[in-house]
Amino acid sequence: MTREQRLEAIRHRPGVSVLIVGGGINGVGLFRELALQGVDALLVEKSDFCAGASSASTRIIHGGLRYLENGEFRLVKEALRERNRLLKNAPHYVRPLATTIPVFSWADGLFSALGKFLGFRVRPSDRGALLFKIGLSLYDLLAGNQAVLPTHQFKSRHVSLAARPQLHPEIVCTATYYDAWISYPERLCLELVLDAESQCSGAYALNYARPKGAKGDTVVLEDEISGRTLEIKPRIVINASGAWIDFTNRVLERQTQYIGGTKGSHIVLEHSELLAATLGQLLYFANADGRICIFYPFYGKVIAGSMDIPVPDPETAFCEEDEVDYILESMRQVFPHIHVDRSNIVYRFCGVRPLPRSDSSIPGEISRDHSCAVIPAGNGIDFPVYSLIGGKWTTFRAFGEQVADKILNHLARPRLTSSADLPIGGGKSYPQTAVEKSAWLGSLERKTRLPIERLKALLDRYGTRTEDFAQFMSAAPDQPLRSLPEYSQREIQFMASQESIVHLDDLILRRTIMALLGQLSLDLLEELAVVLAPVLEWSQERTRQEIERTLKLLREVHGVRLQ
Ligand SMILES: Cc1cc2nc3c(=O)[nH]c(=O)nc-3n(C[C@H](O)[C@H](O)[C@H](O)COP(=O)(O)OP(=O)(O)OC[C@H]3O[C@@H](n4cnc5c(N)ncnc54)[C@H](O)[C@@H]3O)c2cc1C
Repeated sequence: MTREQRLEAIRHRPGVSVLIVGGGINGVGLFRELALQGVDALLVEKSDFCAGASSASTRIIHGGLRYLENGEFRLVKEALRERNRLLKNAPHYVRPLATTIPVFSWADGLFSALGKFLGFRVRPSDRGALLFKIGLSLYDLLAGNQAVLPTHQFKSRHVSLAARPQLHPEIVCTATYYDAWISYPERLCLELVLDAESQCSGAYALNYARPKGAKGDTVVLEDEISGRTLEIKPRIVINASGAWIDFTNRVLERQTQYIGGTKGSHIVLEHSELLAATLGQLLYFANADGRICIFYPFYGKVIAGSMDIPVPDPETAFCEEDEVDYILESMRQVFPHIHVDRSNIVYRFCGVRPLPRSDSSIPGEISRDHSCAVIPAGNGIDFPVYSLIGGKWTTFRAFGEQVADKILNHLARPRLTSSADLPIGGGKSYPQTAVEKSAWLGSLERKTRLPIERLKALLDRYGTRTEDFAQFMSAAPDQPLRSLPEYSQREIQFMASQESIVHLDDLILRRTIMALLGQLSLDLLEELAVVLAPVLEWSQERTRQEIERTLKLLREVHGVRLQ
């Protein structure tokens, strides 16, 4: 279905059970959950799917070791369960990741942690080996006896320094435990949209559209591309607009103060020595001010960052120079002799966590749990508005399931099925072992005549959706891109025709990780725009505008200047 056909279909059926505003992981997760229950829902996203916090996360699928200090055992248990489910249901994108903590004392932090646990307000302090031992033992325990990952281990100073001579010599030991990383969160989000639409004929998702106002039983939506409006008559509205929730509620004639967003920033580094020193693991440590920093290898680069800085308006959040200084300085705590500076940065990104409003002076202590606030119909609005507050990438499915149950209750409809064990997108029928993988690739090679190395790269990018890609690619002459031969023209055209691409930046920021990996050049942008143009029916003028729009975005938001 083209975007125009989708708009027409929506226009012709204004009555919809659920309108979801916001296409981040929480909105999209709920959208799929409702589609599985056969509930007709329309999701609108003002930008592209997964363009908000959901594409700016650290990309770790984790239980949240740190939340144990706040006594949030239920949240950690739920997040660990969801982490394990994602490893199973999205094996094409979610993979185990060893996490190592350099530890600088034996007993520090015990009294501080105990004080916090007993409800006293204490400043964060260094955490010593004993505290980590207690925390990690609990973490393993909460992961349950069907744990799919190894349990934690400690290594002495001597052994740790022998493995990583670059580590700070003042460490007393290191602790290693396991979580997971997600390679393509933006694509997983899109796959949930595609799964939902194929599951339920009444499920539609539209990017670049947003509510402009509400009255009685009607919400007026505006299509950002044509500027045209359309009226929707929903029975329930879900506000899943993340850090924008209070702004969106205002448009829906609801005054709320639910959100106290905090921003976090990341930089992507090209640095072979640093990359080698990670030993393929995530390094996790707390700064003197208690803020957690991380860095880990990502497709030959290193992602570093994450902070908690309160911001009143998500539109004004960017990765600032002082944050870059802070991240670079923090890394010296771990590897004091590895020199990393701005010249190593290939990309930066920033996002705002939709945390609940709080008066805590320590943002790291604000709960990462999720909740759903309900404003009943009234005051001239005939439908209730449910706001999805907080949450983590990791726990989107559980959050969606809980909210879907409330919605089913309101609509008096039964739950038909559970998503707990349901594979997502290219995670369906994913070959698990090396033998299965090679058989799967061999069979596709015979069907499509594409070289096995190419199919392997596609399997990493698209999971078992590679089959659809490869069949499309082999159905007509194809060429590698001149400026980035690891992608091909028909691969890009397949995404353009099947994956709701509206702008050039959707492709380089969210359908692929070209920008994140610092693979862009002006030549590449121009080449991609020319490949997209016939599929998306862009005129020469529009093609030029797309390139300019993308260059501006890269420069102003991601610190990337292309010559
Ligand atoms: C720096 C950082 C690091 C993080 N790291 C991790 C991590 O490693 N692991 C983890 O599990 N979690 C992590 N998180 C948390 C996780 O990313 C977020 O909790 C989650 O992405 C929130 O999803 P969301 O859908 O609620 O919000 P968002 O992803 O922000 O989605 C909201 C969407 O609503 C849209 N929108 C806003 N207003 C409107 C409107 N009026 N109309 C239509 N659409 C609208 C926005 O464009 C946006 O796309 C991190 C978050 C940050 C910021």
